[in-house]
Amino acid sequence: MKICVLPGDGIGPEITAQAVRVLDALRREGLVLEMEEALLGGCAVDAGGDPYPEATRRLARAADAVLLGAVGGPKWDALPREQRPERGLLGIRKDLGLFANLRPAVVYPELANASTLKPEVVGGLDLLIVRELTGDIYFGQPRGIEVRGGERVGFNTMVYSESEIRRIARVAFEAARKRQRRVCSVDKMNVLEATQLWRDVVTEVAVEYPDVELSHMLVDNAAMQLVRDPKQFDVMVTGNMFGDILSDEAAMLTGSIGMLPSASLDENGKGLFEPCHGSAPDIAGRGQANPLATILSAAMMLRYSLGQPGAAQRVEAAVKRVLASGLRTADIHEPGTTRVGTVEMGDAVLAAL
Ligand code: NAD
Repeated sequence: MKICVLPGDGIGPEITAQAVRVLDALRREGLVLEMEEALLGGCAVDAGGDPYPEATRRLARAADAVLLGAVGGPKWDALPREQRPERGLLGIRKDLGLFANLRPAVVYPELANASTLKPEVVGGLDLLIVRELTGDIYFGQPRGIEVRGGERVGFNTMVYSESEIRRIARVAFEAARKRQRRVCSVDKMNVLEATQLWRDVVTEVAVEYPDVELSHMLVDNAAMQLVRDPKQFDVMVTGNMFGDILSDEAAMLTGSIGMLPSASLDENGKGLFEPCHGSAPDIAGRGQANPLATILSAAMMLRYSLGQPGAAQRVEAAVKRVLASGLRTADIHEPGTTRVGTVEMGDAVLAAL
């Protein structure tokens, strides 16, 4: 299995190095994988002027999975738009055809106090949001702002085809099979025809998965239920816009951005795995960054792209043990716990593994 590693900018190289150490440990135990690094984002701009260079494109296309740190930083903010690090990120997502975004929101019992919600509401939460990434009102045509009847009118088009809905629904049902086998599909079918079709097609796909329980929820209720009783959900699947909003809401249930991994998958299960946070330029180079979101992204890679659920589970269990032992990086540190740096946190995960 070939993994393309893209450390990126800011804290990216520091946190990615810890995830690579974990994968290396699994390799020494017999997991067959090759890792090769390439440039993406600001570091690639510095090296050759292109945030997604040809060499990176070739490596990413040939790999079975891509592990990414983070890109961007103030150093590149004044560059023309096509040379910004974010262009590299959008470029690789588009190039690899990544249409499904998976964002787990897990609240480890030891970190329940980091949430702004009551510990009894979020403690033990384990939710996965599956968001469609390439369709919906964000890409639908026609769109624009024009003058009609003497005033400006803004308009966008919410559009989903049957095949787009079917493929994201399958990702959700497959993911549920690896979890508690429950899918909640979120739409606004009482008002929007595009989402009536969404509900109809998800219901059709459910027939192929008799072992997975399907429920439907309107998006306004889903937003409310996420803060009222988030533990009722296992897998939540929804379109691009609703998913954009609900996945950030779910992320904040956990209260700690340094803990959140994500996966973006293509039609064949190949994916790009990255932490939800950015390059944290304010702490870059200080050895303080929390590497756990990246290590947990590597675990998602093992599960979703490399077909190694056992190894994924071991990495996740190792992270849990480290948290239970009281070690914390600065972002999740509380009185009574032991503060450690990026490398020490990596050491601890390796030891627990
Ligand atoms: P950020 O996520 O980088 O940082 C927000 C805050 O969280 C900062 O205080 C930071 O120190 C802290 N933080 C983030 N990750 C952490 C970690 N692993 N451990 C400890 N603390 C952590 O968001 P931002 O400051 O808005 O953006 C900084 C740069 O990152 C920008 O250039 C932005 O464009 C880029 N960015 C990149 C991605 C990506 O690569 N996918 C995503 C978001 C932002």
